[in-house]
Amino acid sequence: MSNLFSLFQQNFPNAEHAPFLIDSHGRVISYGEMQQQTAQIARQLQASGLKKGDRIAVQLHKSPEVLMIYLASLRAGLIYLPLNNAYTDAEMAYFIEDAQPSLLLCDPSRETGFGELLKQQAASTQVMSIDAQGHGLLIVRAHHQQGDFYNVTCSDDDLAAILYTSGTTGRPKGVMLSHGNLAANAFTLKAIWGFTAADVLIHALPIFHVHGLFVACHCVMAAGASMLFQPNFDATQVASVLPKASVLMGVPTFYTRLLADAALDVSTCQSIRLFISGSAPLLATTHKDFEVRTGHKILERYGMTETGMLVSNPLAGERRAGTVGSPLPEVLVRIVTANDSFAQCDEIGSIQVQGPNVFKGYWRKPEKTAEEFTEDGYFITGDQGKISDDGYISIVGRAKDMVITGGFNVYPKEVERVLDAVEGVKETAVIGLPHKDFGEAVTAIVVLEGGDVTEQEVIAQAKCCLAAFKVPKKLYFVKALPRNTMGKVQKNVLRERFVDGCQ
Ligand code: AMP
Repeated sequence: MSNLFSLFQQNFPNAEHAPFLIDSHGRVISYGEMQQQTAQIARQLQASGLKKGDRIAVQLHKSPEVLMIYLASLRAGLIYLPLNNAYTDAEMAYFIEDAQPSLLLCDPSRETGFGELLKQQAASTQVMSIDAQGHGLLIVRAHHQQGDFYNVTCSDDDLAAILYTSGTTGRPKGVMLSHGNLAANAFTLKAIWGFTAADVLIHALPIFHVHGLFVACHCVMAAGASMLFQPNFDATQVASVLPKASVLMGVPTFYTRLLADAALDVSTCQSIRLFISGSAPLLATTHKDFEVRTGHKILERYGMTETGMLVSNPLAGERRAGTVGSPLPEVLVRIVTANDSFAQCDEIGSIQVQGPNVFKGYWRKPEKTAEEFTEDGYFITGDQGKISDDGYISIVGRAKDMVITGGFNVYPKEVERVLDAVEGVKETAVIGLPHKDFGEAVTAIVVLEGGDVTEQEVIAQAKCCLAAFKVPKKLYFVKALPRNTMGKVQKNVLRERFVDGCQ
């Protein structure tokens, strides 16, 4: 086994001018140009002193150049650390301290601040900026490098990326993904979803997350296909490029927003062969409405950062609304009930998985890693599910109480910690409530010490410390939180009580 990029290269089109990426201004980057640019960046990264196993942290706006940096990082055997743009300075300070990257790439507006932060941490991290158009010193310098590069040899177990996910308790954990993990998932997905060089994927997802960075880009590269690279998801813009594409990958919010766009109809979707949804539950009603409107049944799949994709509805065969389908080849999925036995058909239990795509553990947290695996080596996903007698899996809830808003995960504990620190607040409980656009809306139930604290004051404090998608969309003040006999807050009770916005 070798470097993931080398495996992709074996599947690139023979014609170097074959398009790899077309940006929203119509700029085309061919496979030949992509290989040249990534070679130059890989050389420049090495010239800056980075060597195999070093971390490169990237908090940048989506642009083709950022994707080239990811690919160059693979080629140079570096460990790529994509970070959500919305992360605040306090959140970034933690990631930098934990991962100790050799290089941090950020937006120009944050370069000075991060420079100061690194000085305080006495870190040896270099900082460089790249703007939203993909301009920056690293790219300028890379242009002076030669356009060929011998990919650094990597084994299956060598790390390719670390992605941070927040925990139910404590601080975010770095998910270590190897070249072998990513390769196994990429080539399986290419096969089961039938990707070929003729495919044109609409890429409107962020590229700091498993969905946009790995699932979408890897399917394209594993097949030598091309993508229409959008800076973000804009329903009108995406609807306008549908006639030029064959596949759309999205979170459920994409589909609800497309349904709200009058331009979406059978004729705009004529060239599309596959609509894929994941990262959050797709409502059965959205599945049905979309079919009525376009004639297409959305293919829903299920996975997570720690494992990549695990389960999918079929390309050929019934795509069943409200289910995520059956396990991918090589992936073992089992459902274990509360009394530790294997679930019968339609019995709900904890979803546990094993496979070549399952991550190597949490970065520098062996005890946390051990907690999340069973003794016989299954990863405990934290999701609750059931399996039908004909093998379709449904996700029924999340044991970990995570909120998924617009496709982003928010762990209540992290938000509660910030809100609890607001002067005058006694305690809080953060829950997700149904929201027609975001899927779920982060909602905080707040108990005050007795003083006079306003919703605006609490939100203002949250905004200082948390990325915007984690800030509660709504606050409810209550006298006390409902608790069970063990003293645990009954979030299910709160969800029921506030689901219609009433107190
Ligand atoms: P992430 O690590 O950000 O990809 O989030 C993974 C989590 O998203 C999973 O553990 C599930 O809780 C949830 N998820 C992903 N896909 C689906 C889906 N199709 N239906 C329901 N939940 C999903």
